[in-house]
Amino acid sequence: MITQHNIQLQPYNSFKTKAVARLFSEPANAEELSEILNRFPEEKKLILGAGYNLFFTEDFDGLVIRPAMKGIYLIWENDREVELEAGAAEDWDHLVEWTVKNGYAGLENLSLIPGSVGASPVQNIGAYGREVSECITLVNTVDVQSGERKSFTTDQCDFSYRDSIFKQNRDQVITSVRFRLEKSYTYLEKYVDLSRELNSNTNPTLSQVREAIIRIRTRKLPDPEKLPNAGSFFKNPILTSKEKESLVSLLPDLPLYTTGGNRFKTSAAYLIEKAGYKGMRRGLVGVYDQHALIIVNHGTDSGSEIAAFVKEVQQEVFRQYGVMLEPEVWIF
Ligand SMILES: Cc1cc2nc3c(=O)[nH]c(=O)nc-3n(C[C@H](O)[C@H](O)[C@H](O)COP(=O)(O)OP(=O)(O)OC[C@H]3O[C@@H](n4cnc5c(N)ncnc54)[C@H](O)[C@@H]3O)c2cc1C
Repeated sequence: MITQHNIQLQPYNSFKTKAVARLFSEPANAEELSEILNRFPEEKKLILGAGYNLFFTEDFDGLVIRPAMKGIYLIWENDREVELEAGAAEDWDHLVEWTVKNGYAGLENLSLIPGSVGASPVQNIGAYGREVSECITLVNTVDVQSGERKSFTTDQCDFSYRDSIFKQNRDQVITSVRFRLEKSYTYLEKYVDLSRELNSNTNPTLSQVREAIIRIRTRKLPDPEKLPNAGSFFKNPILTSKEKESLVSLLPDLPLYTTGGNRFKTSAAYLIEKAGYKGMRRGLVGVYDQHALIIVNHGTDSGSEIAAFVKEVQQEVFRQYGVMLEPEVWIF
């Protein structure tokens, strides 16, 4: 297994910040991964997917592991369902496209989310009322400390909104993920945006739903290849009913969604916009003018510059509204 030295990570993160990894390795299977982990037990480790949800503020004095396991395999099927396993390095949207083409329902609402299959359980990716955890049956990993292979059933993954055991503990390298999908499909009208894009077609096919989502996302979100970004930068805050009441007294139009347990989700984008940051630019960093949740890089290669701007947005939203926004994006 080849280990490279002093590798520039700029091409490996969608914010395009510069940082050098002292050691870098791309294991093609679980055996190679265990071997590399056993060879460097003392090194600090960082696991890298396709780099759409992270950026670097400094060089990494340790070992960057970029899993390279490929392949989409059929595990079993019956008349109603199919179970597939995909390697960590498979492109997420390629997997979604493949499932839609084959008529397998479950992942279509997650069309065009950039990234790798291996990262999908980490923050339990979600969009258009669907979370990937709803389709995952098993996550296969290699333990960073012991180099041992492990498998996590859905219950063991501790999935919640943009969260999982893998995000909390960061001690497993995901090598492959299993998904159970349906062979029939019924569209559920959950999102006004999506239904409008479908021209009120109440019985769309999987492909029609995928294409509609691709059109909406392409219009709404900046392309990281043209304007470097990492998608939604902050999680939507969850408020207690007391927090909700005091915020509504300042912002009567505050969007609110019940999440159970007398908690309320609100919109981070709305708070950033109200704080006056939508479209704001500070040097070479800014908030996207079409969508306040997206921090964009107008040309810096310094992750510290981006991190300083992120802190400013957090502090200003906190000063004005008493809510500390929590980044969804990893800052290394
Ligand atoms: C334009 C844009 C739109 C986006 N829209 C959405 C959206 O709608 N919904 C959504 O949920 N997200 C969205 N995102 C965020 C991003 O697409 C997801 O977080 C995606 O899962 C990132 O995948 P990645 O392979 O690039 O992960 P990376 O950014 O490389 O890594 C993300 C985290 O996962 C860890 N990780 C990566 N691979 C592995 C592995 N094999 N094993 C263990 N840990 C691993 C990393 O250490 C890191 O902590 C968007 C991003 C962009 C740029």
